[in-house]
This record gives sequence, structure tokens and C-alpha cells, in this order.
Amino acid sequence: MSTSSPYIGRFAPSPTGPLHFGSLVAALASFLDAKAHRGQWLVRMEDLDPAREPEGAADDILTALEQLGLEWDGAVLYQSQRLEQYAHTLQLLEEKGLIYPCACSRAQIKEMGGIYDNRCRNGAKTHGPYAKRMKVTAQTIAFTDRVQGPQSQNLIQECGDFVLVRKDGLFAYQLAVVADDAFQGITDIVRGIDLLDSTARQIYMQEQLGFSRPQYAHIPVAVNELGQKLSKQHFAKALTLSRPQELLYAAMQFLGLTPEPDLLKGSVADTLQWGVEHWDIQKVPKLANIQLDKQFL
Ligand code: GLU
Repeated sequence: MSTSSPYIGRFAPSPTGPLHFGSLVAALASFLDAKAHRGQWLVRMEDLDPAREPEGAADDILTALEQLGLEWDGAVLYQSQRLEQYAHTLQLLEEKGLIYPCACSRAQIKEMGGIYDNRCRNGAKTHGPYAKRMKVTAQTIAFTDRVQGPQSQNLIQECGDFVLVRKDGLFAYQLAVVADDAFQGITDIVRGIDLLDSTARQIYMQEQLGFSRPQYAHIPVAVNELGQKLSKQHFAKALTLSRPQELLYAAMQFLGLTPEPDLLKGSVADTLQWGVEHWDIQKVPKLANIQLDKQFL
């Protein structure tokens, strides 16, 4: 456990739909871990892709968090209001010669075997729209995940130069997340295991930008009976918030806790208090995914 700086954690939903059980688990795990460390828990709305964000989704997520008693510290940070800062971060990388244009299509990348082969590094033919990629090096990035244990990724072999500005001109998640985690002073990231694979890229960017490295913990994701991650695409059900204790109770069980049935008769504040007192990240199952009970699907 790091004791050098006070704990600052965050929940960073993309408002592509209402809060579902999968995002509740990520919110609750990051909240409990922050509060068990007497830390702050921030909420950041990752609203960088308007075409995927139904009107009102961000507000619906915040209302759901409030109903669940998950009170955040400070003001919500909206990525849509941070575009100048992302442009500045990109410029710092450009000045280091790490960014180049690439107009390759998805089909071309598929032909490369799914991993971009860095072919545009030395001058791309850029007629029409192009993305901007960041050069990676042959180094292996290693870190110890607090749930999943030791991890390593060789960026050249396993990832390739990656996109920071998409062809449609939008800033990519990787750029915004690294800029914002540094800007908000995040010390600890607790999120779904679907982002484990992005972590080496984010650490690499932090190193290039001189940002400090947070600790990472990746928790299992909730899947349906077909093994699909709960998401809008798979028609995850919006949570029924009339009985929020039941949702917190089920989410705690998902995270390896064994809440007392009496909690169901109490308030969300009691349930969360119990969760903070009993939180132990080592109890979180070291699995990639957990199939959910039908009632939440
Ligand atoms: N916005 C991302 C998502 O909802 C999470 C980003 C993160 O936690 O780093 O999947």
C-alpha cells in the first residue's frame, strides 16, 4: 500500500447509457477502496464521443449514484470541457517526435493480424481523414495489479503504435484518461478488467509525459449467460433503483464480500458503512468475468 500521498480514487463512466450492474460494481469497488483508505473518491464523466451518448445519460448516472448513496468528492469533471488540455498534452508528445499521422483503415489493420505494424512511421500517404498515432518502444512495461498480480506487456509486439486522435478528429480514450488521471492527482485506479490491456499504454504515456504512476486494480466484469460483457450493446438492463440496498448487497457479493442479510433492512448509508469496514481487495475474485444472476440482466 502506498502511504506517500493521500489516496485519490475515481469512477470514470462513459455516459453511453444508464448505470447497469457492471458499472455499479466498478463504481462501488472504487468507492469502497477509496473510503477504506480514508481517501477521496472523484467522479469523471468520460463524455468525449457525443454520437454514442444519449441525451441525459450523464445526469441519469449521477442520479443513480446519489440514490445508491455513492457521494463523490468535489465537482464532477466532464471530459467534454477539457479539449484544450488534451490538445496541450498531445502537443507535448508531438514536440518529442512521438506522434505521426496514419490513414490506415480497419481492414488494413486486420490484414496486419490485428496489431498495427507501424508502417506510417516514416511518412504516411494522408489523403483524406487520418488518425494520429503515438510511437511505442520495444520496452516491456511491467506493473503489479493489486487484484490480478504481476502483469507485463511488450508494446511493439502486443500493441503497436496506438491512436491518440481518431480519424473523426475526436481525442481517444487513452490520451484523455492519462491527461485527466494526472490532472486530478489520481493515486489509485480501480476499474473493470476489460481495461487491463490498456494499462501498459497508459503507463508508457505517463512515463513520456513525466507523470507519476498510479496503482492499478482490475476487477472482474459482469457478463450475461453468453459470456458477453454487460453494456448497452448487449441490452444490459438499467438498474431498478427503488431498492438500492439490494443492488449494493448484490454488488458487494460480486466483489467477494459476505454482507449480513440484516443490512437489507437498513439504509444505503449503513450498507456502505459496512462495506467500507469489511472491504478487502484481496477477496475480489481473481477472475476475468463473473456471470450474473438473471435478475440483473
Ligand atoms: N470510461 C471508461 C469506461 O466506462 C472507463 C475508464 C477508466 O476507468 O479508465 O469503460
